[in-house]
Amino acid sequence: MEDCIFCQIINKKISAEIVYDNDRVIAFKDVNPQAPVHILIIPKTHIPTLNDLLPEQTELVGELIQVSKELAKAECIDQNGYRVGFNCNKDAGQTVYHIHLHLLGGRAFSWPPG
Ligand code: AMP
Repeated sequence: MEDCIFCQIINKKISAEIVYDNDRVIAFKDVNPQAPVHILIIPKTHIPTLNDLLPEQTELVGELIQVSKELAKAECIDQNGYRVGFNCNKDAGQTVYHIHLHLLGGRAFSWPPG
């Protein structure tokens, strides 16, 4: 989608610090990190929110989680721990309408989140 900022990162029209890239998935550092490690893992297919996820895209979301696990290991946060999560729509604080899995680590987090 032309006006989607994450599609523009996928299409290399906007720069980002890309840490993972394959045919289906790309991951890059969050521009406003909320933890020492804060990476966004996104599908190359434009899906606005989790509500729009089709049953046939289940495997794609599974791949996002697999990539988050690999990146957690690469960032050496896998043993201490990390958090992954999707925000869906306004009450969850979603600001970019292209689904993205947040990978956060490098510090302890409270629960429940605010
Ligand atoms: P959310 O609030 O779940 O929609 O998360 C959107 C995230 O995208 C926020 O953490 C932003 O800091 C991040 N973000 C927005 N624009 C960019 C960008 N150009 N490069 C990297 N991260 C971005």
